[in-house]
Amino acid sequence: MANAQTGKGGLYLLRGLMGRCPACGEGHLFRAFVKVADACDKCGEPFHHHRADDFPAYLTIVLVGHVVVPLAMYVEIAFMLNYWLHAAIWLPMILVLSLGLLQPLKGLIVAMQWHMGMHGFAAAKLARL
Ligand SMILES: [Zn+2]
Repeated sequence: MANAQTGKGGLYLLRGLMGRCPACGEGHLFRAFVKVADACDKCGEPFHHHRADDFPAYLTIVLVGHVVVPLAMYVEIAFMLNYWLHAAIWLPMILVLSLGLLQPLKGLIVAMQWHMGMHGFAAAKLARL
């Protein structure tokens, strides 16, 4: 039997992706750029249990790499640009994409851990059932 919470998994993950508390959707998940708050500032849901570690950075590298490397290879094959021009194009793109994806992906990972009851989030998961 799939419970009602299973169907809301996408909502919880979306809230995390947007940097919001996965429980209430109103409080902030972060207290700084990639520093997760100890608890939600609206509902008090504790977040200090998360163990995102390097996974958000790993996902960011994988995603940015899968976008930039094929584009750079295509541009090199099609236009044979100078190396300085490649650097002028791809380095800023890598920087913007990495900084733009890092916080949402970390929020996604923390929300996923919260939703699945991983680490210290088991009590929160049991309270939702
Ligand atoms: Zn909250």
